[in-house]
Amino acid sequence: MSTRAYNFCAGPAALPEAVLRRAQAELLDWRGIGLSVMEMSHRSDEFVGVASKAEQDLRDLLAIPANYKVLFLQGGASQQFAQIPLNLLPEGGTADYIDTGIWSKKAIEEARRYGTVNVAASAKSCDYFRIPRQEEWTLSPDAAYVHYTPNETIGGLEYDWIPDTGDVPLVADMSSTILSRPLDVSRFGLIYAGAQKNIGPSGLVVVIVREDLLGRARSSCPTMLDYKVAADNGSMYNTPPTLGWYLAGLIFEWLKEQGGLEAMGQVNRRKQQKLYEFIDASSLYSNPIATADRSWMNIPFVLADAGLDKAFLAGASARQLLNLQGHRSVGGMRASLYNAVSEAAVDALIAYMAEFEKENG
Ligand SMILES: *Cc1c(COP(=O)(O)O)cnc(C)c1O
Repeated sequence: MSTRAYNFCAGPAALPEAVLRRAQAELLDWRGIGLSVMEMSHRSDEFVGVASKAEQDLRDLLAIPANYKVLFLQGGASQQFAQIPLNLLPEGGTADYIDTGIWSKKAIEEARRYGTVNVAASAKSCDYFRIPRQEEWTLSPDAAYVHYTPNETIGGLEYDWIPDTGDVPLVADMSSTILSRPLDVSRFGLIYAGAQKNIGPSGLVVVIVREDLLGRARSSCPTMLDYKVAADNGSMYNTPPTLGWYLAGLIFEWLKEQGGLEAMGQVNRRKQQKLYEFIDASSLYSNPIATADRSWMNIPFVLADAGLDKAFLAGASARQLLNLQGHRSVGGMRASLYNAVSEAAVDALIAYMAEFEKENG
């Protein structure tokens, strides 16, 4: 009998129960060697095996081409906001950034410390309810790269298209959308994702980088932040976050067992479709995002009367539907429907929302 709640947290987010159970079973004695995975040398054959299997499974899931390196790093996605310009933006250079919300703005602010940032397009003019199409972007001819945020975790906007930047490397913060469906990695110069949404626990960030972009770090870049150093050392220049790496590996195995990203994509498509359809048909709940730009993973919504918010959240908690409060900067509600959030969880949420509307509508 499971007592696990339905967890709609934006991050750190729900993990698959099967993965937690396996980690629990392996915790004291990892595969008969008498130690936990946290207590073994990262240079041991055992851990190197765990690490390389995780990488291979991620490569299989995303069909990552051979000319890309996969790095397992620390510092979260936020550290990448600095690490990317330190590696890819030459002194005095310009980078293009697309502003679609809070996470892209954080990336922009940090990059400004290292060079010229051209905000090539911004969703500000439409209150962050719609993503500017590429025809509306003003890219600079000499940009070192173009950075965008495919899924804005807080605002709930997501691109359903991949920008075309020609020979200029495309850099994407995929923290809250990676592994939600198949992806054509070859379109990108660099992809990064904090683990605590769809990959595993916090404390780990995955970077997928095209090999020709390695070795460009400026001389002031700390050794620990140089992608080439990480790549040359198999992400073990220093002690990596071994527990997180192992757990990410269990998630990748679980995703393969579910049928890979094609199958996950179908489930995820249905999950978000159901919830948006319900919200759009309701007179109590609403979501303001342009239909084509709605996020699959993070669905913010507001109640027509904010005075009902507290009662809504209390009723949800009583039904073990947790973490539905919106981000502190925007208020309202948000349901995050990452891979580990089952279709049954979404059905339970919709049933509760309907019941609450009936009583309070
Ligand atoms: C969560 C998130 C971040 C921040 O991740 P940290 O690992 O906490 O630094 C950055 N970008 C996006 C899109 C996110 O969803």
